[in-house]
Amino acid sequence: MAKQIINAKIVTPEGILEGKTLIYDRKIIEISDSPLPDAETINAGGRLLIPGLIDIHVHGYLGADASDGTEDAVRTIASGILKNGVTAFLPTTMTVSYEELEKAFSAIRGVMRSPHPGEAIVLGAHAEGPFINVNKKGAQSAEFVRRPDADFVIRNKDVIKLITIAPETDEDFSEIKKIRSQTDAVISMGHTDADYDTAIRAFKAGVSHATHLFNAMTGITHRAPGAAGAALFTENVSCELICDTFHVHPALFSPVFRLKRDKFNLITDCMRAGGMPDGEYDLGGQKVTVNGIKCRLDDGTIAGSVLTLNKAVANLSGAGIPLHEAVCAASLYPARAIGADNERGALLPGLRADFALCDGEINISEVYIAGERAL
Ligand SMILES: [Zn+2]
Repeated sequence: MAKQIINAKIVTPEGILEGKTLIYDRKIIEISDSPLPDAETINAGGRLLIPGLIDIHVHGYLGADASDGTEDAVRTIASGILKNGVTAFLPTTMTVSYEELEKAFSAIRGVMRSPHPGEAIVLGAHAEGPFINVNKKGAQSAEFVRRPDADFVIRNKDVIKLITIAPETDEDFSEIKKIRSQTDAVISMGHTDADYDTAIRAFKAGVSHATHLFNAMTGITHRAPGAAGAALFTENVSCELICDTFHVHPALFSPVFRLKRDKFNLITDCMRAGGMPDGEYDLGGQKVTVNGIKCRLDDGTIAGSVLTLNKAVANLSGAGIPLHEAVCAASLYPARAIGADNERGALLPGLRADFALCDGEINISEVYIAGERAL
């Protein structure tokens, strides 16, 4: 039987609708001018109704990490980030050994195949490395960095949805082309020392996404626009941005959004300390000290964040981006980047009934997955 939500400000890709009713079962049926007479009804009491958020770059939460290699760890993340309005995500592995990666992928695969109620849905894995450039390793461990190896991706192609590669370490792009032709994985440029020209050639070879734009890549100057410039100025390339105001200065949020629009993806890059008190944590075998929004290795290197995706939406909206567009940057646009927008990412008829109720600061009060209350 159809259900409905009344008295909500419905956030759609076109704008925020008031005085309408969202009618749904497992999927969204329609946004109607008037409520049905006999459907199960939720009164939103004037709250915002947003699509479930989608995090395509999140390592951990509540003490658990995707690289721990257990289903329990993945489920701890999945239930933890649900409270932030996230209904689907890519658990993101670090640069660790092949053995640890295979173990992590099999845990991710297990959770993907049997989702539990009260958990955000696992769409696959984001493998952030090990095919990165040691010179731009950031908080990744140098010990396990390898040259790109398409066969490894092909062996795990049922689970890898997104893979971060430093394209300059694949000189003739033969591995990138092989991954592109033999898997559905989206190839992202990241932890890279590529200059502008190399990055542009990598896009032609099949790279279509950029991992945390500006962080761990060559930056922009007027004579050398770098990997960051190549990603920003190439229309079809989608870009992740960590909008925590620490990894990236907030003055850049609005101009980057205006350049990338529907290719702009909010991510958290959250590590296991997310949702936990300040202190010392492990990130891919290295010690990270967390102090407020700042996470650093002992040598001062900026490590992953403790950002939540609902806070990222609030930060982007606070930088002057209309709220409905800031919401798209954490739902429809990342869904599109990984080819999942035919199923999810917006409050549009035919898509899954994954959504959340929240206030104007995107503080989440209720979450629904496939039309069922999950929080
Ligand atoms: Zn990361």
